[in-house]
Amino acid sequence: MLRRARTFRRVHEVSSLTVQEVRAMLVHVARRMEESESVLTDADRATGDGDHGIGMARGFEAVRRELADTPADTVSELLDATGRTLLASIGGASGILFGMFFRVGAAALGGRETFDGDALRLFLTEGTAEVMKRGKAAPGDKTMIDALMPAAEAAAAASEDSLAALLSATSAAARRGVEETKGMVARTGKARSLGERSLGHPDPGALSASLILGAMAEYVAGRD
Ligand code: ADP
Ligand code: MG
Repeated sequence: MLRRARTFRRVHEVSSLTVQEVRAMLVHVARRMEESESVLTDADRATGDGDHGIGMARGFEAVRRELADTPADTVSELLDATGRTLLASIGGASGILFGMFFRVGAAALGGRETFDGDALRLFLTEGTAEVMKRGKAAPGDKTMIDALMPAAEAAAAASEDSLAALLSATSAAARRGVEETKGMVARTGKARSLGERSLGHPDPGALSASLILGAMAEYVAGRD
């Protein structure tokens, strides 16, 4: 019991990641997304054309390989390489949107050599703004924005300095966002033609966004 309490306190003290740790975090995210193929496929079968899981798994498998070979001095380079690889390998709406989310979020970090709470806030705010600008969807339309926006807002509102605590709050907000998409009727993308039949199902892109943030939180929480 005592040991667990101590571990918990140490975990919540993690305040920033080095470039190599960001690389390891992104590789962990990629593995989790590859493992999530069937849950994402099921979600897109219920609301779209069923290709979302295959696309995300293919995209993140390519990211995992790309990151192993990409030299980097800054965290932005790694996040940008992630975005470029997703753009080149996923296809469909989510390839462009997640690709640009990472690329524009990366650009906002300039030449930073560490990833801390402030970097997370900037990354999420700028990445989410880009998804909204490109896709022209609004909150409530049942898209990835319904997970990204609450996550970005939670990061902006949180007072914690610890990256672990911030990521935990952020990914919890994204998960709540996914739950809320179940009560939404899709107003954009392929799910739009389903109308009321999209009710009761989570949006696949929102689910992906929440799994990405959840895997980032998991990596930081597990780091010694
Ligand atoms: P496609 O719809 O081309 O088959 P995917 O199945 O990979 O692409 O991704 C579908 C997801 O993309 C949706 O669940 C939704 O979250 C997201 N999406 C689609 N169009 C938009 C948009 N205009 N803005 C934001 N997200 C969108
Ligand atoms: Mg699809």
